[in-house]
Amino acid sequence: MQKIVSLCKRRGFVYPSSEIYGGFSAIYDLGPYGVEIANAIKNIWWREMVQLRNDIVGLDAAIFMHPKVWEASGHVTDFADPLAECKSCHTRWRVDHLLESAGIFADEKMSEKEINKIFEKGKKKIKCPNCGKNNFTSVRKFNLLVKSNLGNFTEDWTKEPVYLRGETCQGIYVDYKNILDSTRVQIPFGIAQIGKAFRNEITARQFIFRTREFEQMEMQYFVHPGNELKEYDKLRKLRWNFYLNLGINKNNLKWHKHENLVFYAKEAYDIEYNFPFGFSELEGIHARGDYDLSQHAKCSGKDLFYTDPRTGEKYVPHIIESSVGVGRIMFALLCDAYAEEKVKGETRIVLKLPKQVAPIKIAIFPLLANKPELIKKAREIFDNLKTNYMCEYDGSGNIGKRYRRQDEIGTPYCVTVDFDTLKDKAVTVRDRDSMKQERIKVADLKEYFENKF
Ligand code: ATP
Repeated sequence: MQKIVSLCKRRGFVYPSSEIYGGFSAIYDLGPYGVEIANAIKNIWWREMVQLRNDIVGLDAAIFMHPKVWEASGHVTDFADPLAECKSCHTRWRVDHLLESAGIFADEKMSEKEINKIFEKGKKKIKCPNCGKNNFTSVRKFNLLVKSNLGNFTEDWTKEPVYLRGETCQGIYVDYKNILDSTRVQIPFGIAQIGKAFRNEITARQFIFRTREFEQMEMQYFVHPGNELKEYDKLRKLRWNFYLNLGINKNNLKWHKHENLVFYAKEAYDIEYNFPFGFSELEGIHARGDYDLSQHAKCSGKDLFYTDPRTGEKYVPHIIESSVGVGRIMFALLCDAYAEEKVKGETRIVLKLPKQVAPIKIAIFPLLANKPELIKKAREIFDNLKTNYMCEYDGSGNIGKRYRRQDEIGTPYCVTVDFDTLKDKAVTVRDRDSMKQERIKVADLKEYFENKF
């Protein structure tokens, strides 16, 4: 974990937010290479979930929504995690996680009373993971919604706050009717969305795994009640294969079935990834019944029924969903890719990222930094390749260091212009993983990379 966090900072993937002011807990910025990976993840997801589908449309709902949305969804009353504080070191912990680590089952959705009872019984076995003491406060349920004073100019705005959305899918539910009325979709159909969500997470000490501001990619699929579980199985397969196609090692993935379902859910599974702290949730895939639309119909007073154009049958669609954070996929990809290898007695750090998500696809170097004729040719090649690939030109430092730097940011290919290039019109192309080098004619480079990518 520490090695990955340090590489991310050192090489411009992820920075702690507001670092010059001492940082800002559980908020991170994506650096030049991080933003490239995140964009690649989002593009691949969007292509698969929207572009290649005749039955799924996209949406970009606003972050701010009517406060009633969060009452209807149950977030105002129930979107709360159980919190206890260590009285010795004042670190706050999620009690369901503390209990879990002591082998005691507890669900974050339990009432304050229920979880206090379990915690009281199990407390003796639990030590504060920070200071090792056994001296906790009682459990308090802490609501995760982040409040704002948007549009409220009174002093006491906290009484009627506007929330920053805690999940993106509420935007999908409340726009469901607009989409039905303005497009040609018919059940079964899906609505996909990528956007920021905000949660006042209690424990946020796992780098970009759990942050207070994060980006979700969610797809809600609307089905006939009788087809919910059949469609759910299809969605589970689709999402599992997404990770295999992305290039994640199958051995680092596993299914986790939820045993204690919330009352409206039909089925719930997570895809877990083997993060440095063990297998943890990467994505949730849930069959949610008609809960979401029924709640919004009840609270808004609007008719959210669907009428089948062929049979005339009227019903509230059931929803199956796929929900994942961009940061969690990025973290999983970085963990999967990180490698240290011994090369001629030295340690080479290399990110063996799948080519499709590598932030820089091709790096182009002049062999020597002070030879104008090499620089000119290398620049020409850079200008030629940059129209098709994210490329980087690097003309400083010794060539070995330049290769090492590209290895650390996961660049699959490096192209070097040397003195022979001026005679034989060919360049050296080096492969990141095998480190093999081959001579390729400059005129053939585009075709060469078309085959490689
Ligand atoms: P957890 O139990 O880990 O708090 P959750 O079950 O509340 O997560 P969901 O509400 O199902 O999570 O969110 C769906 C997805 O959004 C998660 O699978 C995860 O990929 C992502 N996600 C949720 N919370 C965070 C967060 N704080 N930081 C980053 N990603 C998150």
